[in-house]
Amino acid sequence: MTQTAFFHDERCLWHSTGEAVLFLPVGGWLQPLAAGGHAESPESKRRFKALVDVSGLAEQLVVTSAAPVSEEDLLRVHPPEYLARFQELSAGSGGEIGEEAVFSHGGFEIAALSAGLAKRAVLDVLDGRFRNAYALSRPPGHHCLPDRGMGFCLLANIAIAIEAAKAERGLGRVAVVDWDVHHGNGTQAIYYERDDVLTISLHQENCFPVDSGSFDEHGAGAGAGHNINIPMPPGSGHEAYLHALRRIVLPALRDYRPELIVIASGLDANVVDPLARQMAHAGTFREMTELMVDVADELCDGRLVAVHEGGYAESAVPFCGLAILEALSGIRTEVVDPFEETFVAQQPTARVVDFQRTLIDEMADALAQRRASR
Ligand code: ZN
Repeated sequence: MTQTAFFHDERCLWHSTGEAVLFLPVGGWLQPLAAGGHAESPESKRRFKALVDVSGLAEQLVVTSAAPVSEEDLLRVHPPEYLARFQELSAGSGGEIGEEAVFSHGGFEIAALSAGLAKRAVLDVLDGRFRNAYALSRPPGHHCLPDRGMGFCLLANIAIAIEAAKAERGLGRVAVVDWDVHHGNGTQAIYYERDDVLTISLHQENCFPVDSGSFDEHGAGAGAGHNINIPMPPGSGHEAYLHALRRIVLPALRDYRPELIVIASGLDANVVDPLARQMAHAGTFREMTELMVDVADELCDGRLVAVHEGGYAESAVPFCGLAILEALSGIRTEVVDPFEETFVAQQPTARVVDFQRTLIDEMADALAQRRASR
């Protein structure tokens, strides 16, 4: 059995977010940028895939695509009205189906393909075809609400994949660990009142969406205690992220004992991302993935799927992504991240790290109390 699969489709990189300056429309005082300018451009993803190829890692993985998700798959998460409106705009010249949720002609089909990569990755890992998998899905999914696109996300890729696996494979408990630097508000909303999917989001406090993702949002009804938000202080780097995983994420997973772990793998907590203010680097993503591989081995026979979310630094995303794939596959290529020395040297000093750890410890202690009082 080949250990790691990499799901990728060139058509996902043909999704167009149009002309913008980061995420704002061009005009007024905003001069158009040279290359389209929208933060959610294909370039970071294309360069990630290119590095997987030239590093030689691609030859040691199964690199493959998948079918788009079906109408039935979509209807498990999204209401028919939303899908109809999305399809109608997509059949024309494109449009917008929510805050910062822009697409061009044919955007619906590409979004369905993006979700299809996630679905195939989940099913194939459950079926034992691969030990683990990475789906380079684009457009991303974790901000998308059932009835509204948001934050470059047009369909809830991970929820669609999980619901398909529940319907087609009888999948039980699933944990989603979202390390995208922005709050996984869509995934949270979909599973907020359910106890069969544990949702954990590490994100920069109050970044996007604003006023979303506080520690106090911890699920409701049957889902009470099954949503965990870890709002990280701005400037969190390698030590803070690993501390949050060790102190909060791993204990929560051990307590929950999922049958499958899905990582919402945004790479935008890296130090040069234009849409956040965190300080992780490729080594951080490598070590976080190693912890996830180990806990998946411990809890669910290694069943681990990473689905790509954000990550807008064309320079750094390829190295962060390659580090994750190397950790998933256990294969170390000859690639040396040329940024590593600089980014490691720039990490916050002990005094700042101690402060960040204290904030994380406070959340960890509060969660332990919550668990004890259940
Ligand atoms: Zn993000």
